Amino acid sequence: MTIVRYAPSPTGRLHLGNARPALLNWLFAQRTGGTYVLRLDDTDTARSTAEFAQGIEDDLRWLGVTPALKVRQSDRTALYDAARDKLIAAGRLYPAYETEEELDIKRGRARLLGRPPVYDRAALELTDDQKRAFEAEGRKPHWRFRLDGRPVQFNDLIKGPQTVNTASMSDPVLIRADGSYLYTLPSVVDDIDLAITHVIRGEDHVSNTGTQIEIFEALGGKVPAFAHHNLLTGADGEGLSKRIGSLSLAELREDGFEALAVGIVAVLTGTSLPVEPYADLAAIAGRLELSMISHGSARFDPAELESLNARLLHAMPYEVAASRLPRTIGHAAWDVLRGNIRKFGEIELWAKVIAGEVHHAPEPADTDFLAKASELLPAEPWDETTWGAWTSALKEQSGRKGRSLFHPLRLALTGREDGPELKSLLPLLGRKVCQARLP
Ligand code: GLU
Repeated sequence: MTIVRYAPSPTGRLHLGNARPALLNWLFAQRTGGTYVLRLDDTDTARSTAEFAQGIEDDLRWLGVTPALKVRQSDRTALYDAARDKLIAAGRLYPAYETEEELDIKRGRARLLGRPPVYDRAALELTDDQKRAFEAEGRKPHWRFRLDGRPVQFNDLIKGPQTVNTASMSDPVLIRADGSYLYTLPSVVDDIDLAITHVIRGEDHVSNTGTQIEIFEALGGKVPAFAHHNLLTGADGEGLSKRIGSLSLAELREDGFEALAVGIVAVLTGTSLPVEPYADLAAIAGRLELSMISHGSARFDPAELESLNARLLHAMPYEVAASRLPRTIGHAAWDVLRGNIRKFGEIELWAKVIAGEVHHAPEPADTDFLAKASELLPAEPWDETTWGAWTSALKEQSGRKGRSLFHPLRLALTGREDGPELKSLLPLLGRKVCQARLP
């Protein structure tokens, strides 16, 4: 039984880059018939808010992700306390009293000596008396995990065999001086408690994984499988930061992009599958394997999102569009119009062309021609042949042809320079509407 989790911090709105792990986990759960857990990593109480948490849930729902279970780290402190005590008892978690400034000085000194700025574990040498003296000074300890300092190996489901040598790392701080937990320990405790089988997350976490595997083992938990995906970047290779407002999911939705277009781009960029229309997320889940995710970069191209959005709409079956369409746009109208929109909202404009008012003052040179056109309007019923019959008669009588024949008609009937083929549009408009739009 597969259990995956998506673990955002509610310190901002989700962003295109965050949609990648959110959906990769979702697709993996779909593909394997597994369970999807949403875990809100809200241990940073100063920056986490209920509004951001709600925003994340809204964004996930919009993307089509519906977690089977939601947990919040702020509700689970008792579990972390128990793990803390276990690690202390096992001698793997130790108090350290250095201030930020003291640590800075140590790092500076190491750099001068040409050594890596790795924590020197001075705190491990402290006697009980020295610790008491610090406490008496009012110093509160932060707590570090004592790494084994060995090559930690795991078989990454995307990147293949990986080795993280924890000997070259500082013992990580798991608990701040104010007693609050940093991300590293709660994440492992939750992954054990929730029986997470696969951790799918960005490749910026690879070295964390080395540390966390040691913590899993120290706590006697089962180590899950890991898959680290490439991160979406901009054209310049720069990361898509949460701070780029225009790429927040909320903003993309506001801009009228289809959730599916955003999802396809977020997930399939930087994989061996093409960024192209799929019927739904299930169709992607049926094809995407973790091994198809590239080891190289995943560059996001805004033009690709625009064009994919249009392609999805051009291929969108009426049944899928129906619930979002204005009342006046039926099946036939949708089939004619969908090829002309790039964002769903543009259908409103065509709904006006079909059933609303069109204001267009004809060129004086065209007035007689359009009056003639009105006279020659064929009797109903109309179908796709009506346009041809009408304009042939008009051509004969007016002597016009090509653009001078067709363009004034388009302008008068639709008020627009371009749009769907008039032979398809004409039956949607009907004789009465056409007559009203001609002089
Ligand atoms: N809250 C972490 C992040 O957003 C979660 C990483 C993980 O999946 O373990 O980076």
